[in-house]
Amino acid sequence: MKLTSFDPSNQQALGEVEVATSEQIHEYIQSAKVYQKQWRQLPLAERVEIVYKAFMSLSPYSDELAVLLSKEMGKDIDRSTSEVRGAIFAGSHYAKEAGAALSPRNDGSNISYRALGVCAVISPWNYPLAMAVNLIVPALIAGNTVVFKPSEQTPLIAEQFIAHLNHHLPKNLITIVHGDGAVGEVLAGHQDIALVAFTGSQAVGKKIMKSAASSLKRLVMELGGNDPMIVLKDADLDAAARFAVASSFENAGQMCTSTERIYVEKAVAQCFIDRVVTIARYYQTGAWDEPNAHIGPIVSKKQLAKITEHMEDAREKGAHVLLGGDVKQGNFFNPTVLTNLSPNMLMEQEETFGPVVAIAEVDSVAEAIYRANDSDYGLGAVVFGREQVAEVANQLEAGMIGINKGAGGGGASPWVGAKQSGFGFHGGFDGHRQFAQVTVIS
Ligand code: NAD
Repeated sequence: MKLTSFDPSNQQALGEVEVATSEQIHEYIQSAKVYQKQWRQLPLAERVEIVYKAFMSLSPYSDELAVLLSKEMGKDIDRSTSEVRGAIFAGSHYAKEAGAALSPRNDGSNISYRALGVCAVISPWNYPLAMAVNLIVPALIAGNTVVFKPSEQTPLIAEQFIAHLNHHLPKNLITIVHGDGAVGEVLAGHQDIALVAFTGSQAVGKKIMKSAASSLKRLVMELGGNDPMIVLKDADLDAAARFAVASSFENAGQMCTSTERIYVEKAVAQCFIDRVVTIARYYQTGAWDEPNAHIGPIVSKKQLAKITEHMEDAREKGAHVLLGGDVKQGNFFNPTVLTNLSPNMLMEQEETFGPVVAIAEVDSVAEAIYRANDSDYGLGAVVFGREQVAEVANQLEAGMIGINKGAGGGGASPWVGAKQSGFGFHGGFDGHRQFAQVTVIS
């Protein structure tokens, strides 16, 4: 059976890949299992060198990969170029960093980080390369082999990227399999998979936990977000408004840490909203190769229907739509600003994943903190302000909290969610160790 991939800006078919059958998946896992026994015997430094060099060899293909990424996912070419380069950099950087994190140490006992076996990496479409590399590389460096299933929305870019990489890697180290959730389910439930490293929605994360339960697999779960932003009355309102718009519209709002709901203190609400609307008016929708287009298409009709549903729900429950609020044409959703966001709206409760700045005026800082935390999600959170800003940040329930900037530390910080935004994570020493078995010999 074939899986066809479409350009979300015009629905034209871009190409197809073969969907893996259950029998093929089983065979791939067996081959990965056999090779893993050799791979894990290589000295850590050698594994690091092999993976590092393979990623460095990708640079000549960055432009070609960026165009394919734009066509298949819809983001503009600058963003695709930066994702491709970022994925190449992250791959080589994580290889070295994981090498350091996984070196044996002595804390009274000898502590070592051993391979687990064959890992399944299952990834989403919104950052199809970045999200895959972040989990594949630490798994490999720890001495595991990987069977990787990309999203069914973005199979071609994943196929091309892994094909280039595999020219420089041993056979059966990374095996790519294609298909929808059914293929993911076979992987997540297979007895010979030791760890499932997953990035995607909460709903699918819960299904994977069930599939993985039969053999108590290790899990790395990087799930959805519904990130709040708090604007305190002494905030730099220009900076806050610039951030609010950029973070809500980035990747057409299809980013796990995009700002989904904003709580602004009443005293400065109108000044903040005026600035947001002025900035948001500059944003144009358009296909990846249209100059000055900042907001690409929504990736699928399913995602578009979700944004439209949240929008209708918000209107019915009293939102004031100041800009946009509707589909422009095809899969393009107009950049939107709305106020009067309230706790009973889907837009406050769930991840909308669209180009929407949703604002609520609050009477007090306590109300802002309460509403920010009144959620099952806990990926990122942001607070803009001066005097009380650190105190407010300390009370926010999220894995990554940004003060006067976006959430996520960068560098050697882990990328981590709290509450139902996930557990197990990647990045930094703590993250790399999630892909290994800690072993103590005394
Ligand atoms: P999704 O959960 O629908 O799909 C993700 C992957 O899971 C796809 O490859 C899909 O085929 C597979 N899948 C579906 N059903 C499965 C099953 N039963 N068993 C195993 N695999 C299955 O997510 P999506 O729509 O591709 O991506 C968007 C979501 O990802 C958003 O919620 C976003 O916030 C989240 N995300 C989180 C992070 C993070 O770092 N925490 C980063 C990027 C995206």
